[in-house]
Amino acid sequence: MSLLVTGIGELVTGDPQVGDGSPLGVLSGAAFVVDAGTVRWVGDAVGAPAADQAVDVAGRSVIPGFVDSHSHLVFAGDRSAEFAARMAGETYSAGGIRATVAATRAAGDEQLAAQLSRHVAEMARQGTTTVEIKSGYGLTVADEARALALAAAVTRETTFLGAHVVPQEYADDPAAYVDLVTGPMLTACAAHARWIDAFCEVGAFDVDQARTVLEAGRAVGLGMRLHANQLGHGPGVQLACELGAAAVDHCTYLTDADVDALAASGVVAGLLPGVEFSTRSPYPDARRLLDAGVTVALATDCNPGSSYTSSMPLCIALAVREMRMAPAEAMWSATRGGAASLARGDVGHLTVGARADFAVLEAPTYLHLAYRPGVPLVASTWAAGRQVA
Ligand SMILES: [Zn+2]
Repeated sequence: MSLLVTGIGELVTGDPQVGDGSPLGVLSGAAFVVDAGTVRWVGDAVGAPAADQAVDVAGRSVIPGFVDSHSHLVFAGDRSAEFAARMAGETYSAGGIRATVAATRAAGDEQLAAQLSRHVAEMARQGTTTVEIKSGYGLTVADEARALALAAAVTRETTFLGAHVVPQEYADDPAAYVDLVTGPMLTACAAHARWIDAFCEVGAFDVDQARTVLEAGRAVGLGMRLHANQLGHGPGVQLACELGAAAVDHCTYLTDADVDALAASGVVAGLLPGVEFSTRSPYPDARRLLDAGVTVALATDCNPGSSYTSSMPLCIALAVREMRMAPAEAMWSATRGGAASLARGDVGHLTVGARADFAVLEAPTYLHLAYRPGVPLVASTWAAGRQVA
């Protein structure tokens, strides 16, 4: 059953070869045809071919579905009191993760699955069609494997983050915990995961431990990602570049050598402005990265501690207002940038052959995502050509 989407006032294709000549490839008065979940034709609405069904979006803008390349959605518990305390002056530390670990371990499978699907649906209502989901609040063999099995039921992009923090029971022997992560835990988790990740930061894992974890994951066929340089300068970005990770996320505190290494290696820098917003911290310098030629992805880092937003439109608005990204750059980073972070060629754009993942905006142009912050502009969301929100 083919579907013609027509009457598109402004279409963001993500194809630099078409339209206005920008990386976003913006077309006016456009249409596209979907068949079997895939974009089959894109062009001027006047010349659109016939299809079995048609949807006329009446001049609204259409964008590729957002690709949220960093989230932690398998959790239980609530840390709103910690947020309130932070807003009253306490500083954020990695240790708060342990509160969520305790609540997550205590939760039943059904409770975790219900919470997870609520968050994924919340994301879909805000235009997200691809989401990466990490484990990391179980930190036992059984709890990490459970988290990844649940995540794998809702996304292809699952990430084993046993190296999130050292759990309380290993506080006196972190080396034994790294052995567990790279041994039995990895064995139990690898089948449910596409990626491996570690939190390389003071208070979490040092660079040698992070290297050991990523190399162990790579040895069993997982792609590598890393949390690094969030709370201070550190060696994590250099490690990600040296290992050829797909992405290194946070990148708030960078030296010139870090920026050069990112540009030279092609490792995607994931910027997560919801974190800086929610922890009242300095934002990463997106302008410096973009000017150096680094590929930048924007993601929510949705998690109950440091960034409990599931909204890519909010991240776009923050990136534009607080990180000096042009609206077009932020739009690109929230779609094609996220796809680059996840090494996915089939999402983040609407060109022939792409997955038909898109959002219809109650707006004449994608610029409204930054121009009208906090306004629910996503009228509908479609995944593989089917309306999901
Ligand atoms: Zn994270």
